[in-house]
Amino acid sequence: MAKVVKFGGSSLADANQFRKVAEIIRSDRERRYVVPSAPGKRFPEDTKVTDMLYQCYEAVGKGKNATAEFLPIAERFNEIISDLGLTINLDGEYDIIAENFRKRAGRDYAASRGEYLNGIILANYLGFQFVDAAKCIYFAANGEFDHDLTDACLASVLGGYPEAVIPGFYGARPDGTIQTFSRGGSDFTGSVVAKAINADLYENWTDVSGFLAADPHIVENPEIIEYITYKELRELSYMGAGVLHQDAIFPVRTARIPINIRNTNIPDAKGTMIVPEAPKEADSKIITGIAGKKHFSVISIEKDEMNSEVGFLRRLLTVFDNEGIGFEHIPTGIDTMSLVVSTEELEAHPNTVEYIEQVCRPNHIEVINNFALVAVVGRGMKERKGTATRIFAALSHANINIKMIDQGSSELNIIVGIHEKDFEKAVRVIYDMFMLSE
Ligand code: ASP
Repeated sequence: MAKVVKFGGSSLADANQFRKVAEIIRSDRERRYVVPSAPGKRFPEDTKVTDMLYQCYEAVGKGKNATAEFLPIAERFNEIISDLGLTINLDGEYDIIAENFRKRAGRDYAASRGEYLNGIILANYLGFQFVDAAKCIYFAANGEFDHDLTDACLASVLGGYPEAVIPGFYGARPDGTIQTFSRGGSDFTGSVVAKAINADLYENWTDVSGFLAADPHIVENPEIIEYITYKELRELSYMGAGVLHQDAIFPVRTARIPINIRNTNIPDAKGTMIVPEAPKEADSKIITGIAGKKHFSVISIEKDEMNSEVGFLRRLLTVFDNEGIGFEHIPTGIDTMSLVVSTEELEAHPNTVEYIEQVCRPNHIEVINNFALVAVVGRGMKERKGTATRIFAALSHANINIKMIDQGSSELNIIVGIHEKDFEKAVRVIYDMFMLSE
């Protein structure tokens, strides 16, 4: 049996946090493969080591002295080392990094050194083998992550060690240059490692006790979600409810390995289990969570006999394709079609409406701004009648006008479009309707 345990930056921000992490790992012998982030913030105004590294690399690019600029970063690591009473000395590593900064080894190389150095310290503290991610996590020459090569390589390297620390966030291209995943990408590394060793569980340790059923800035004290399926999480994280990097479920999902979100500071809390299917006893709730996003625009198009005009949608979407704009939803009527897109993206492509007019020749086209989407997500909806009625009743009692309705084809979510000004209120009344009455 083996568990992969990933610890986020706040879990490894200083020596005290390192001690908590070691205690968690030592309390369960199955916690054998550890993926650390770089040290995060120790207090709200603090700077994450990853951000310090980006800044340092930039300063060196502008002619500043690499060794001097790197000093505050070295000091953060040295403080952890000395506070833990370890005897390792990383001066040689710091010299190599400063030299590589001077030689302009790349922004990704710079950022990755936080995880790299933290991994060395953690491995030393735990007495585990250190495995450099550059030797077993690979990208192709075009920068795309190479799943197959990584999977095979990790399985064979880690097969040789009963316990190991593999730094998160980065890997290497075929020529050896370092490349990182996007920000927060250590979550993805943890998932890739879990898949490669066919772990029984991927534990993701952070500073919250799991996913909340709604944004705590909007709903006071929302419930912690006990079980959530991969699919539900996709619906929620896509709408901005991130605790976990949004790509992190993909590697483990194919292997049906559950992810457990846990709190390093409250290790006894059970956290949230992300699973292929929730167990029966967890299935009593209709709604698993509510999330949403503001700052959308609706492009509303009207054209007589649109329904019988073959190829209309294809022509319309060609414009989006050519402009490289993604869209969220396309609710349609007989002679109308609306596209919900992010306002920011639309503003970045100011000629979009003109192109649509040229290609589709509509009778009328207009852009409506200040639109918000609220996603109500729950695997329990499928079996129960009246969910939509309850959502609409809650919104109507709160005097909120619904501008768009969309139910996902898997009956896993209902999305409503409303005016931005009603967003917070809408989330609150829907939460109250389902969570407080069950
Ligand atoms: N240290 C990286 C970041 O700050 C990656 C991570 O923590 O997952 O984004």
